[in-house]
Amino acid sequence: MSELTLSPAASTGSATTAAPNVGLPLWLLAEVTYRCPLQCPYCSNPVDFARQGNELSTQDWIRVMTEARAMGAAQIGFSGGEPLVRQDLAELIGEARKLGYYTNLITSGIGLTEQKIADFQRAGLDHIQISFQSSDEQVNNMLAGSSKAFAQKLAMARAVKAHGYPMVLNFVTHRYNIDDIDRIIELCIALEADFVELATCQFYGWAKLNRAQLLPTREQLERAERITNEYRAKLEASGNPCKLIFVTPDYYEERPKACMGGWGAIFLTVTPDGTALPCHGARQLPIQFPNVRDHDLRHIWYDSFGFNRFRGDAWMPEPCRSCDEKEKDFGGCRCQAFMLTGDAANADPVCGKSPEHRIIVQARSEAAQPVPTTQPLIFRNDRNSRTLGNP
Ligand code: SF4
Ligand code: SF4
Repeated sequence: MSELTLSPAASTGSATTAAPNVGLPLWLLAEVTYRCPLQCPYCSNPVDFARQGNELSTQDWIRVMTEARAMGAAQIGFSGGEPLVRQDLAELIGEARKLGYYTNLITSGIGLTEQKIADFQRAGLDHIQISFQSSDEQVNNMLAGSSKAFAQKLAMARAVKAHGYPMVLNFVTHRYNIDDIDRIIELCIALEADFVELATCQFYGWAKLNRAQLLPTREQLERAERITNEYRAKLEASGNPCKLIFVTPDYYEERPKACMGGWGAIFLTVTPDGTALPCHGARQLPIQFPNVRDHDLRHIWYDSFGFNRFRGDAWMPEPCRSCDEKEKDFGGCRCQAFMLTGDAANADPVCGKSPEHRIIVQARSEAAQPVPTTQPLIFRNDRNSRTLGNP
């Protein structure tokens, strides 16, 4: 994206106090609600989601989308929670399309109907992604917390395809379903999926609470990747266009990911109550992030403390400061550094050079043990959020 990186002055024609070479907020993630009928124990929403403020109104979202588009945003993802619970979703999609966005709907499929798909298509929706919990109906419904979820997802995946959309499926994999990776892929092939994201659980939000039960072993992960590669070869040989995307968890890497392409570099998340974040997990950090109800997006992106906090590399302590890989991974994920070390400025402990890397090594060795039966899964729901979320 470096070719699109402009200084704020170049992009706005106005002077600003922001760090030099600030990129454009190309990707706007609109988390329109935290309400969701499901209760996935790996949900990346904040644990205290039930304590967040009132949702933005339709007009607030239209203003946010208009401001972000004027600043260069090209893609919008409608996400949540479950975005389908917003009654104004078709209107928001229509406004986004009129503004010139490429529009994505990221949904569990619960609450979707043939009528809604037709309405969204008329409004100009470009892309729909449906997530599944498992290829096994019982496991899917146990994790989702709904006895009807699997059947509904199947029906809606077929309906999305029937409306001429590419079928994009997402499976979060973990200890409970990763050994069924062949059945997951077979299901995707049977559904004539075009793109399948096999994303091993990342440990944020509710997934972090349930890490001991969800983190697969290295052997499970390696087997799943090998089987995925075998299917890739078979699909290619048979001319099947289905693309399998396999995402490994950070916990089995020796270098961290270049989280969000850099802090405040490309991604702008707006949460249901209007808090603006450089990534959807950042709300947990001890930083006062700005709210779109109080500031316009240009101020938020270029001038706010929160968005400038980890831009550039002046904030980096060692070992990142003098590391020759800092341009590549920006020191990894600030949320992971905060969750695991207590200081968001530390190197992401996924990195083998981090003095805290032993935390990751310890988690891997715990994953090699049997799943603790004394510790049940904590499901993501309002009651648990109010009990567990920070006051
Ligand atoms: S991960 Fe599950 S609980 Fe969380 S928003 Fe998505 S469907 Fe709802
Ligand atoms: S020390 Fe920091 S910059 Fe270097 S590879 Fe590790 S996380 Fe990245």
